[in-house]
Amino acid sequence: MDTDLHHYTVEKVVKGFVYNELEEKGLFGLAGRLVIQPEYQRNYIYNDGKKDVAVIESLLKGYPIGLIYFNVVGDNLEVLDGQQRITSVGRFVTGKFAIRLDGNEQVFSSLPAEAQMKILKSELLVWHCQGAEKEITDWFQTINIAGIPLNPQEILNATYSGPFITEAKAEFSNSQNANMQKWSSYIKGDPKRQDILAEALKWVSSSQGISVDAYLAQHRKHADITSLKAYFSSVLDWIDSVFTRSPDKEMRGLEWGRLYEEYHSNSYDAAAIDADVDVLRADPAVSKPRGIYEYLLAGKEDKKLLAILLFDETTKRAAYEQQTQKAKADGMSNCPLCAIGDTANKTRIYKQSEMDADHVTAWSQGGNSDLENCQMLCITHNRAKGNR
Ligand SMILES: [Zn+2]
Repeated sequence: MDTDLHHYTVEKVVKGFVYNELEEKGLFGLAGRLVIQPEYQRNYIYNDGKKDVAVIESLLKGYPIGLIYFNVVGDNLEVLDGQQRITSVGRFVTGKFAIRLDGNEQVFSSLPAEAQMKILKSELLVWHCQGAEKEITDWFQTINIAGIPLNPQEILNATYSGPFITEAKAEFSNSQNANMQKWSSYIKGDPKRQDILAEALKWVSSSQGISVDAYLAQHRKHADITSLKAYFSSVLDWIDSVFTRSPDKEMRGLEWGRLYEEYHSNSYDAAAIDADVDVLRADPAVSKPRGIYEYLLAGKEDKKLLAILLFDETTKRAAYEQQTQKAKADGMSNCPLCAIGDTANKTRIYKQSEMDADHVTAWSQGGNSDLENCQMLCITHNRAKGNR
């Protein structure tokens, strides 16, 4: 890869700056010669009123904003690294956001002339890089963009850039997509940081028993994302058909791809499921409400999924009877911890109201709340063991 260093002014780089409000990305600079967001770049994420403002404040104070890299493509240039900073400057100069200066809110056009000049004449150090596509993407994978490192999906997007990723991002990484609100109620994260796309790719590739890398390598050169969209929709449609309620907050971020693969060929009574969800969500013994959905999908057998906290009254009564009968026969306390101690309580028989139920194997270790795993302890010993 060949590199050579160039000195640009801000004025020159943001000349003819175009920002696409809908897709939230900077498009062109250098009077049209510079592509600010080539397809392997990530979305613009500096428009948070902090990072974008910090870029402008740095320029006003005369601080450098770091090295920038352009990729030379024929007669044109693409931003390889520096897209967030260039887009911030371009948006400010074209009046897209304000900063505070000496306590006053200022857009570019309302700044004093000398401050405007200071920004426009700021020098940007730019390396021009020229090399094979593979060299460029390999290199791109190894750098960290100042401030916010690339996340794994952003690296995948760069590595497998091409028509497939372009189409997939237009569908799954576009916060304007009409479906985004619905998707975000089942999938955690930020579409702009590629979290929805990452999940869609994870689901379809694991359904085919291959890695996301392998899936992207297969599809990289094709603009047709039908199979990705179809699989993603089938998972979401299935969730909607089984859980007809409007999504609970606990449903966000569940492993829906895996749940679909494991359970979608079962049939469910949606009305009964809905009623069960209500009952379980209202049950204080269910300490892990996120487990409710798989518990129901799996046929209400695996109580570990719910991390049930409490024993019911029948179980406690039965455990008390068993222990007390045996303790009386042995002449020892019916609290097994008192019985092995050396205090006056060694032979004391407690009333049930003086005892509490304890999990022999803690529920956090998968211990069930059943008779087999229940022992009654005197209140003092139960408290000493803590709420496990
Ligand atoms: Zn005791």
